[in-house]
Amino acid sequence: MPVRVGVNGFGTIGKRVADAVARQPDLKLVGVAKTRPSFEARRAVDRGYPLFVAGAGDPGKFTSVGLPVAGRLQDLLGQVDVMVDATPEEVGRENRALYQSAGVRAVFQGGEEPDVAEASFNALANYEACRGKRSLRVVSCNTTGIARAVAVVEPRWGVDRWEVTLVRRAADPGESKRGPVDGIVPTLEIPSHHGPDARTIFPALSIATVAVVVPTTLMHVHVNHVRLHRAPSGTAELVAAFRASPRFHVFAPWEGVEGTPQVMEFARDRAGREGGLPPDMMENILWERGISVSDRDAYFFQAIHQESVVVPENVDAIRAMFELADGPTSIATTDRALGIARTAPASEVPPVRTRAASP
Ligand code: NAD
Repeated sequence: MPVRVGVNGFGTIGKRVADAVARQPDLKLVGVAKTRPSFEARRAVDRGYPLFVAGAGDPGKFTSVGLPVAGRLQDLLGQVDVMVDATPEEVGRENRALYQSAGVRAVFQGGEEPDVAEASFNALANYEACRGKRSLRVVSCNTTGIARAVAVVEPRWGVDRWEVTLVRRAADPGESKRGPVDGIVPTLEIPSHHGPDARTIFPALSIATVAVVVPTTLMHVHVNHVRLHRAPSGTAELVAAFRASPRFHVFAPWEGVEGTPQVMEFARDRAGREGGLPPDMMENILWERGISVSDRDAYFFQAIHQESVVVPENVDAIRAMFELADGPTSIATTDRALGIARTAPASEVPPVRTRAASP
């Protein structure tokens, strides 16, 4: 029997999580909940996702514009084993009591405070510790990126100190009310909240983060300096470790990817090539040329696609809660279904796929 999943909040994160859940062999997307009709509600209906009305939403507003409604959020809660809450920051906390009283497990997002759930979650970092929990919080996009990198580096060489400067995108591409549209805005809170958030997963990690916001919608970029406990043999060993890990994509120099514009262009090309894949980058993005090791000091840049990086983590969080698989199996299953499973080391120039001759 597949685990029955509902998604409450069908915006940037919710719609992507719903699509990802619908692709998994062991999960069933029962429906999605929204407060208001919109083009995204239309999208849910077009994809065949039963649409439920959340909060104080009025079902008549949906039906009057031709959007069929399957019921209210309470009805959806009666049909699912777990709800993924992808509502705006702090609304998830308000919804928590609803899920608890319906006896439904819940996955919350990083906009909520850590104590909204029993544990904060990242699949590469602490899947096993989260098995069987009734509620989990998938950490934010930036913390997900940091946690994945720590999960690769820490077990191999140990970490004495991790320092990250986060260059944050001003808004998501679909947003028109956030900024700046010009200028650079430092986050004057030092450390930024990302370091403490990373410690909800790695409590003993010595980490400091600072952040600036810049006028772009195309990804965040992290500038990392890690003082390792033991020195790797050289840069190639660190590059190989990132390459070997799921949820990492390392661009080789020959690929000509200079920055986030080409990364997202790559994502759009990949989506076009692999029909049905969203034009997203759910992996941590690294540049081979931007990774450097000098004795115990490691430096690397990574780009994080804020709209999608947490999507596979939401899927794995559900598997961990219901103990459907161990961590590596869950990650592999998720990534295969999403079309992001690793196939070949990126340093190798793949053979050119020639189009079959038309008959
Ligand atoms: P969003 O604004 O794009 O989507 C939220 C959706 O929830 C909207 O469709 C909104 O209409 C709907 N909504 C509002 N109130 C509701 C209610 N009471 N019940 C049901 N639906 C309601 O927001 P988002 O960017 O998808 O963020 C959702 C969560 O994910 C937040 O916690 C955020 O911090 C986190 N997150 C966002 C990003 C990102 O970059 N966008 C990345 C990682 C995590």
